[in-house]
Amino acid sequence: MRTTRNKTGWHSRSILFLALLLTNAGVRAQQGTDFSKVQIKVTKVSGNIYMLEGEGGNIAASVGEDGIVIVDDQYAPLADKIQTALKNLGITDKPVRFVINTHYHGDHTGGNAPFSSAGSTVIAQDNVRKRLVTGGVAGTGGSVKMDVPPAPKEALPVITFEHDVTVHLNGEDIRALHFPAGHTDGDAIIFFTKNNVVHMGDDFVRYGFPFIDVESGGSVQGMIAAMEKVSAELPVDVKVIPGHGAVSNLDDVRAFVKMLKDTSAAVQNAIDKHQTLEQMKQEKILDPWKKWSGEFIDSDKFIETLYHSLTGTKGDFIKHN
Ligand SMILES: [Zn+2]
Repeated sequence: MRTTRNKTGWHSRSILFLALLLTNAGVRAQQGTDFSKVQIKVTKVSGNIYMLEGEGGNIAASVGEDGIVIVDDQYAPLADKIQTALKNLGITDKPVRFVINTHYHGDHTGGNAPFSSAGSTVIAQDNVRKRLVTGGVAGTGGSVKMDVPPAPKEALPVITFEHDVTVHLNGEDIRALHFPAGHTDGDAIIFFTKNNVVHMGDDFVRYGFPFIDVESGGSVQGMIAAMEKVSAELPVDVKVIPGHGAVSNLDDVRAFVKMLKDTSAAVQNAIDKHQTLEQMKQEKILDPWKKWSGEFIDSDKFIETLYHSLTGTKGDFIKHN
């Protein structure tokens, strides 16, 4: 917000990630979003936890007597509107003290620089900071491939964690837990333990077949492992904030996991039969799940995702959970 360099940083990242947003509710044109027209919609989820929607990933906010903690921050040009929306709740005049990033993608971290400049402390898993520092490539390992430039210094998390971290604020333990190798290699799922709310980041989304960033250490196996672990341990009535889409429940998560497992099995079966990627696409092996096919990740792109995920070498994605 303050310098040309910052502006360049968010602008290029936001353009790159617009492709990711095409299928999400409220997404506008492919050639760039007019952020001046974006409005921030605030929904009360439970107790003092709110969800904010504008452009990009969903934001969760704990708003209370100690101040504000937000999970993810969309895009830099929206930071002022987000701040205003939080203030307009009329609950506290205290600032956004902490921002927790669920992963490094620009539609979730684009506001890091302006929030940092306004005094917030940004917290993220180690790999989020690493990927923001270096930039790199995001993609399915196939036809979806996007260059991600390095983020400016102001956008980098100043506190990082390997496994988990807890922020004790507003009478609640707000716990961020790393789930490796799901949507990316730096995903954190955030638990608002007293309010019974969880922010899943992009390990769980509502726009159809998910984007799995295989190029950034993501895998369908890790995404399934994360969602199964979380859905087995959370209370049945937990409110689930997805990375993109409406507030959901555990049944929605289970349906998503079932789709991931069934489609993975279909692709694995084709791999076992020595089918090529091209043959799998020609035979439309994901046709039984075509209702999940979206504008951005259609059936062919999801076949690519699963193929590269299932044939690639993956690290110990469940080692510390
Ligand atoms: Zn993402």
